Amino acid sequence: MVSVAIDGPAGAGKSSLSRKAAEILGFIYVDTGALYRAVGLKFLRLGYDTRLECSVDKILSDTEVDIRFVSGEQRVFLDGEDVTDEIRTPEASMMASAVSAVPLVREYLLDMQRKLAKENNVLMDGRDIGTVVLPDATVKIYLTASAQVRAERRYKELCGKGIQTTFEEVLRDIEKRDYNDMHRKTAPLRKADDAVIADTTDCNIEQSLELILRIIRDGIGIENNVS
Ligand code: C5P
Repeated sequence: MVSVAIDGPAGAGKSSLSRKAAEILGFIYVDTGALYRAVGLKFLRLGYDTRLECSVDKILSDTEVDIRFVSGEQRVFLDGEDVTDEIRTPEASMMASAVSAVPLVREYLLDMQRKLAKENNVLMDGRDIGTVVLPDATVKIYLTASAQVRAERRYKELCGKGIQTTFEEVLRDIEKRDYNDMHRKTAPLRKADDAVIADTTDCNIEQSLELILRIIRDGIGIENNVS
């Protein structure tokens, strides 16, 4: 099986680019952030905040996170309920970042991610795919862009979904999540030694897609004609 690992900070365009690239290549796209978001949503629903003053272990033992592919699109289920849309709010983002620093949560989600890559050609995006989940991935990409540009993109996306927020709030959240993700003890966000850096600060969506496809095709040794 071929596996492509795409890691990088929040708002770098990982999901939209990975989704498109996977579709072009005929791979399954796995958005691992959605798994952490679903776990985060569970804690939010139980009334906890990002300090997570609770027995994480006990709550996880009573939590079921599952992903299913409906017409090629990933849907995420929490305790049997489709929460694909609900996990996209700013509160769910911050909670995902908080739960993702808990080693038990990472362990809880690890097998599911590895199993998907074992059984399918995958393009998987996240923070630790190239470093921890799939250390032997066929191709590894570290996708990044300046925090300002990432916040602009994320702000537009949230506005488009009708989610009320301000640019300043989005930038602050992005910087805080980057800090959390890069400084946590377990599986911090970092570029794998053998990952190729794709910096899309000055690229539009088409150019970014072209860049990613070129890196993937070079990595798996297939012809380089985009689209
Ligand atoms: O990618 P996305 O922004 O949806 O991820 C939400 C949060 O989940 C991230 O801020 C990060 O804390 C966590 N995450 C992670 N490891 C992954 C994917 C996401 O820690 N592989």
